[in-house]
Amino acid sequence: MPIDATQPYDDDNIFAKILRGEIPSTRVYEDEWAYAFEDIAPQAAVHTLVIPKGKYVSWDDFSQRASDAEIAGFVRAVGKVARDKGLVEPGYRLLANLGRHGGQEVPHLHVHVFGGEPLGRMIAK
Ligand code: AMP
Repeated sequence: MPIDATQPYDDDNIFAKILRGEIPSTRVYEDEWAYAFEDIAPQAAVHTLVIPKGKYVSWDDFSQRASDAEIAGFVRAVGKVARDKGLVEPGYRLLANLGRHGGQEVPHLHVHVFGGEPLGRMIAK
């Protein structure tokens, strides 16, 4: 079920639990600002999620409340994950779903990194 992206941050969301190490994940990259792990139900040959370490529900929340350092750190981490996976030359796609119309299901900001094969149309309804 898509979430209401205006809800307050829920400390019990599944990505908060992954960040705290309470449930397992396949780690791809980690630094002070971000944690990257493999999506549990990949929708492309490469499907990695990058999340900020801070408590942000969505892109909207993050872009309003995060510090410049958090934003810079997170954006650099997304770029590094894609680069380290060899996706720059063949190309890749970033996606951040937000709220009901975006189909966001987990209320902790995450950027999907898709690649490893041609990705087809930008949007399927
Ligand atoms: P979204 O619809 O943008 O909120 O995407 C949520 C994503 O999280 C989906 O692609 C799920 O497959 C993925 N996901 C849910 N639970 C886990 C988990 N425990 N580990 C890794 N990925 C997950």
